Amino acid sequence: MGKIKVASIWCEGCSGCHMSFLDMDERLVELINKGLELNATPITDLKVPDEGTDIGIIEGAVATDHHEEEVKMMRERCKIIVALGDCAVFGGIPTMRNYFTVDDLLKRGYLTTESTVDGKIPISEELGKHLPKTKAVNEVVKVDFYIPGCPPSADAIYHVLREVLEGRIPKLEGELLKYE
Ligand code: SF4
Repeated sequence: MGKIKVASIWCEGCSGCHMSFLDMDERLVELINKGLELNATPITDLKVPDEGTDIGIIEGAVATDHHEEEVKMMRERCKIIVALGDCAVFGGIPTMRNYFTVDDLLKRGYLTTESTVDGKIPISEELGKHLPKTKAVNEVVKVDFYIPGCPPSADAIYHVLREVLEGRIPKLEGELLKYE
């Protein structure tokens, strides 16, 4: 395939999936030498991917209206969307809050925990608003490829990017395919 532009975002997740991305270590340099270009990512700290970006990687579930906007922007600007990690693939741990209302969640988190004194629920446009339910990425936009795992291994991420760079359709199997 030659050069590929890759963008990534981090929604409702713990950053562990991006840590796995960085855990490719020197293999990341190898991929860059083969033509991988990191576009907008938490690593480069750019927020908006170029139009026509080849691969858009999404970590985390979709929990707020801001996440929803970001995920839709990735879908519009990237040819292939990859859900990275269990939170993006099926909602994962962040969906545990779906058993409660958003009001109850915020009250418990900011007002009634045993250690809270004079708590206050933060309100700011910059924080976005919680959706009634946290969703997997494919409940919001079409996903083309899934890399499950919590987090997926650096080996799995490397395999997918290398296969695309070398013009093959990646296939995850054996040790590379893990649901945890
Ligand atoms: S899948 Fe696991 S490592 Fe990745 S964001 Fe979710 S909790 Fe974190």
